[in-house]
Amino acid sequence: MNYISRIALNLKSSSIRNMYNMANTMENVVSFAIGEPDFTTAANIIEASNKALMDGQTHYTTNAGILPLRQAIANKLRNKNNVNVKPDDVIITAGGMEALMLCMMTILDPGDEVIVTDPFWSNHPSQIIMCGAIPKFVKVYEEDGFVYNPDNIKNAINKNTKALLINSPSNPTGGVADEEVLKEIAKIAIENDLIVISDEVYQHLVYDDAKFMSIAAFPGMKERTVIIDSFSKTYAMTGWRIGYAAGASQIIQYMTKLQENVVSCVNTPSQYAAIEALEGPQDYLHYMLSKYTERRKLVVEGINSIDRLSCIKPKGAFYAFMNIKETHLSSEEFAVTLLKNKGVVVVPGSGFGEAGEGYVRVSYATSEENIIEGLKRIKSFVECL
Ligand code: PLP
Repeated sequence: MNYISRIALNLKSSSIRNMYNMANTMENVVSFAIGEPDFTTAANIIEASNKALMDGQTHYTTNAGILPLRQAIANKLRNKNNVNVKPDDVIITAGGMEALMLCMMTILDPGDEVIVTDPFWSNHPSQIIMCGAIPKFVKVYEEDGFVYNPDNIKNAINKNTKALLINSPSNPTGGVADEEVLKEIAKIAIENDLIVISDEVYQHLVYDDAKFMSIAAFPGMKERTVIIDSFSKTYAMTGWRIGYAAGASQIIQYMTKLQENVVSCVNTPSQYAAIEALEGPQDYLHYMLSKYTERRKLVVEGINSIDRLSCIKPKGAFYAFMNIKETHLSSEEFAVTLLKNKGVVVVPGSGFGEAGEGYVRVSYATSEENIIEGLKRIKSFVECL
């Protein structure tokens, strides 16, 4: 008897995990694999959580999460992102990940299609597949800064298309969609009556003249957009498992109904910590951003100084999508051989979709020393090919 469902059997495990497992068996490894800040959470945020616990906040909360946090998020969306939502249009979730999953489960029926970029963050299509729905990939290209070409989205729409997933700034490419592109995507969504799932978890990590904008801020979009955000990347809170979804009222209400059946509510001390993250001093966020800016320079200049390797300057997040085409190795061969020969972990682009072939993802959420050492090893690896 096979007890495992078809969906579970067929789900691919992420190439990030595969590389991570391989590296775990080795010594003296430099890792560019991890998509999480190497900083620890700011002390004032930890203190807010401790205080909540000592004050007796050790119980369940409502399914949607505590009102002061939903209010703080609604304030942030109104003041910083120009998106006017009520606290009732916000649900607190176990990271951006659960917000995405609840959203997909709320809107998707088997056979529905969701347009997703290729390269993609692999959990996006996996979650769509877990709902019995179909990810419809639209390729994005290095020469376009890895940003959607709206004409290609139009061509991918058919009668089964239910939603459009955008992720700007993007994991794995660091691409950031500008206002013009977002405006065109919004127009397409309205004309075709599509829901937009806008994964904005890297919104604070933008560089140079790039600006983050939420697609929900365009007229007529808040009603059809589900914003996905998280405290993980912005406030170095990956382990706290807290994020949220906000936007289209009816969808948020149904997500709350599902929440009751999934985790009931997010852990209570994290919710109090998140209020402090939003409303307390923001200096630590600025400090982390200044460090990412320095590291990005180091990584981009380092890669482009190595013969046969290149990368465009990522406008956001903390990933460089390194072009390895001139080495004539597949991204898998490149990543595995680099790890075996030099002890450096990068993630093969093939794990992020067909259009990711010819690239590897380099995360610069790691120390300057690691970046310098890792690039030195990558250079000597490529020189020996
Ligand atoms: N969305 C993107 C694009 C991500 O890269 C991640 C994490 O890597 C998430 C969402 C979810 O993060 P979390 O569940 O920690 O909030």
